[in-house]
Amino acid sequence: MAEKLKLERRDFIQKSTLGILGLFAMGGIVISPHLNAQEFRLRPPGAQDENDFLSLCIKCGQCAQVCPYHSIELADITKGHGVGTPFIDPMKRACYLCTAVPCVLACPTNALDHNTEKPEDVNMGVAIFKFSNKCIGISTEEVTRKDIDRIYTHPHTNKLEEDILKKLEDYEDEQCTICADLCPYPNSTTAIEMIDDPANNGKRPKINSSCVGCGVCAELCPTAAIVIEPRLTYEDYYIKGIRNKKIL
Ligand code: SF4
Ligand code: SF4
Ligand code: SF4
Repeated sequence: MAEKLKLERRDFIQKSTLGILGLFAMGGIVISPHLNAQEFRLRPPGAQDENDFLSLCIKCGQCAQVCPYHSIELADITKGHGVGTPFIDPMKRACYLCTAVPCVLACPTNALDHNTEKPEDVNMGVAIFKFSNKCIGISTEEVTRKDIDRIYTHPHTNKLEEDILKKLEDYEDEQCTICADLCPYPNSTTAIEMIDDPANNGKRPKINSSCVGCGVCAELCPTAAIVIEPRLTYEDYYIKGIRNKKIL
């Protein structure tokens, strides 16, 4: 009897182990494309080169905790490699280039380089005016109430965030120049400016060399006409013609 019980127990353990291994294998099939994905993400200001950043970041979430705009998210398993590392999805909430860059100050490991002391030191990526056909500034269509209400779905729990919404209110029924006007870079025309578009009687944004890829123009554009190339500089994209596989 004791021998029979032992055999049944061994059989149960073998089957259970196989079952668990099977589940892991199946999970691997589902998850592995994400784990293998070498997608580029927009990292917070000051992020070291991606490999160094991944080694240095201890996933403490301090940068996300101190960000007053709720710009920083921590990657979960569905976001592929670097689980727990901070990133910014500019279509949900961009980085507003705080003067003293508190996310960098909060980073205990230098994964966000402590030499990044002010907005001019930031180098997250570069903006691309990718979908000019969608731009209502060019077409001279006015900004609608619906365009502004869309941003109310983004975080607005403190005065800084409320101020963004207040600024947007001024554009209702006006021609759109939101991307250039609300760029947070100091002396913002060196990053983005509106230029005449005589063919359409409107104005179009032109990205300039100081753009640091904070993503605000992409977040606030009512028609998602602007995207961000993470990790590239103005020179990389506009002069050398370098492209990422994935843009944000
Ligand atoms: S600079 Fe400010 S808005 Fe940008 S990620 Fe850091 S704390 Fe957030
Ligand atoms: S142009 Fe856009 S991405 Fe570049 S600094 Fe200004 S708001 Fe940020
Ligand atoms: S925010 Fe800029 S890119 Fe977007 S519709 Fe307005 S003018 Fe065009």
